[in-house]
Amino acid sequence: MSDFDTDLFVIGGGSGGVRAARIAAGYGARVMLAEEYRVGGTCVIRGCVPKKLMVYAGRFADEFADAAGFGWTVGTPHFDWATLKRRRDAEVTRLEGIYDANLIRAGVEIVPERAVIVDPHTVRLVASDRTVRAERILVAVGAHPVKEPAVPGIELAITSNEVFELESLPERILVIGGGYIAVEFAGVFAALGSATTLLHRGDRLLRGFDDEVRDALAEAYGHRMDLRLGRTLLGIERREGGLCARLDDGSEILADQVLVATGRRPNVGGLGLDRVGIDLDAAGAIPVDAYSQTKVPSIYAVGDVTNRANLTPVAIREGHAFADTVYGGRPTCVDHRLIPTAVFSTPEIGVVGHSEAAAREVYGTIDVYKARFRPMKATLSGREERILMKVIVDCATDRVVGVHIFGHDAGEVIQAVGIAVTLGATKADFDRTIAVHPTAAEELVTMRVPEVTKHPVGVG
Ligand code: NDP
Repeated sequence: MSDFDTDLFVIGGGSGGVRAARIAAGYGARVMLAEEYRVGGTCVIRGCVPKKLMVYAGRFADEFADAAGFGWTVGTPHFDWATLKRRRDAEVTRLEGIYDANLIRAGVEIVPERAVIVDPHTVRLVASDRTVRAERILVAVGAHPVKEPAVPGIELAITSNEVFELESLPERILVIGGGYIAVEFAGVFAALGSATTLLHRGDRLLRGFDDEVRDALAEAYGHRMDLRLGRTLLGIERREGGLCARLDDGSEILADQVLVATGRRPNVGGLGLDRVGIDLDAAGAIPVDAYSQTKVPSIYAVGDVTNRANLTPVAIREGHAFADTVYGGRPTCVDHRLIPTAVFSTPEIGVVGHSEAAAREVYGTIDVYKARFRPMKATLSGREERILMKVIVDCATDRVVGVHIFGHDAGEVIQAVGIAVTLGATKADFDRTIAVHPTAAEELVTMRVPEVTKHPVGVG
């Protein structure tokens, strides 16, 4: 008989923890999983899933407007926030039930309370004041949104947690930040009809993305909302009729809600990591090796708490790889180098591989193929927005090292392109792929002349 109450104790029932628990149990391990809030974690409960449902809701506005050019007469559309909220929340609850059921079916014991680490093999369940001895502990507690910058009145703002609890659509909303979350929610609120201001301290949104994609997004958003770049927030105060945000240029923005989306931090507070000698890195995350093992051999960590690539599918992969490695007898590392991703702005962004600037640094001489065009649908709808597609090729090997799409369904398209790029496709492979006509995506295989060949900085 083992000295332990369980083989694996997972702290956190989000994407990474649930996957790890389920797969480990499938290999025959005895698994317990503690979740203090709702099983499903950020992605299912207050992230990707409810956000995407709101993105869908917002996009009907464009569809109604575009329909007229195709002969439709659409009455004045009316949007009802309460209906969306009720139906969205019901869907989240349904998914939560599926997550619970899958864990139970796999034989995982769910512990619905907070757990903290006591020693390398012991966790304490806080509410019931019990201790559990585990051979291994997996920390998969995720991250939380921060309320920054730390200016007077910032406590009046909401974050991406509270945004899902709003009981009514704000007439005016100020969104602060220039990352995924700010860009996505600003797009949602603008589409649903809120007078939306997006405020970002930098000159371009979405740091790390390709500069031309960033410019295309700023151009589109400039038509859809009040976009303030290169401005910082000095403070927020309550005024009659709403909140007033003061900016560094002396201007003021009045809003019913201020949403701060200025980053997320690992949920390590009070977890007991100090008791076992696990020091955090500069970002407050848990350092792990390629197999998600911490410096304490019995303690592992996956997902946002490790701050590798903070995306749901990556956390799932890390959780799965952990279970394969430790319980499946198949040591597996996750390759974090090539991760297709999408930003659900409207229009959407899909990316795999390097930006033009990064590719130039890594590979030296690159070819850049580019298409910027009006999609066919826009000819009759009259919509002015253009699609941008870029394919970046390493000249030495002919390999496609970056694909960037700004336009409708970019996330769907980039998933398929990601397979080709992951397989190491060359530009010649793209060229011999027959186009699907008429689509916007056919541009990806019909671009023949590089717009420009870029040499390493200082050469040619
Ligand atoms: P990000 O870290 O992506 O962006 C934070 C933004 O806030 C940046 O624009 C940053 O500016 C700005 N910022 C940071 N600190 C301050 C400050 N003190 N004052 C003003 N601005 C500030 O965080 P998000 O919250 O947007 O997203 C968190 C994570 O969630 C991301 O890592 C992403 O991977 C994930 N996510 C993924 C989604 C998807 O896959 N579609 C959707 C939503 C989230 P600067 O650039 O100047 O540093």
